[in-house]
Amino acid sequence: MVSSDPMKLDVLAIAAHRDDVEITCGGTILKLVDMGKKAGVLDLTLGEMGTKGSAVDRTNEAEEAAEIMGLLFRRNLELPDSAVEVNRENKLKIARIIRDTQPELVILPFWLQRHPDHLYAMQLGYDACYLAGLKKLELDGHSEPHRPRKIIYSSSFRDVRHSFYVDITGQMDRKLKAVAAYKSQFDGTPRSREIFKPGVDIFSYMSITAMHYGHQVGVKYAEAFSIRENILIDDPSSMPVRSI
Ligand SMILES: [Zn+2]
Repeated sequence: MVSSDPMKLDVLAIAAHRDDVEITCGGTILKLVDMGKKAGVLDLTLGEMGTKGSAVDRTNEAEEAAEIMGLLFRRNLELPDSAVEVNRENKLKIARIIRDTQPELVILPFWLQRHPDHLYAMQLGYDACYLAGLKKLELDGHSEPHRPRKIIYSSSFRDVRHSFYVDITGQMDRKLKAVAAYKSQFDGTPRSREIFKPGVDIFSYMSITAMHYGHQVGVKYAEAFSIRENILIDDPSSMPVRSI
């Protein structure tokens, strides 16, 4: 059962709008859950500026998607949609949730974005991870200081050089189901097909993109991620490789 109560998580994905996580990295979240990891999502807005569906519709849809993804935690920061601002107040709101959930891994949107909310979600999330770890920063009794061990950036659908891919072949069906839970957005009507020009159905779009990434690494479906830092490796001969 998904809850919004504080709890220890292994992974927390932070994104601007409901359905962002499902579309960009839902397969990877599902895979981590399949491996027994505790996963949660923090959505920053209620999506009230979306042209389709009310905020109430989207609340119910987000809960249904959370169940399909096996999330233990989902919370909404209720920042104004399309007006997310990078300020200290918002950074501290997210830092509180990082302390409440103590994730080892945080997934953020990629650092180049067309929609400002997506970009600002990345900036807020990055700074919040830092602030949450400051021992001397008081956050109204929000548990122990905590800094996530790793931040990765979901760069699926971005035309950039990705750092690594995650095989989601075993999770693709459920990823599509989780996105389909957002019926108000993707109901198959001609209007819902206009979200991705030129009228490409989002499910086809996700499948084709995941197949394209999968083809790069010799699996059927994959999601793409980027990291900012270099990786230190002791034994290059033991690096994970999947030959094509
Ligand atoms: Zn979005």
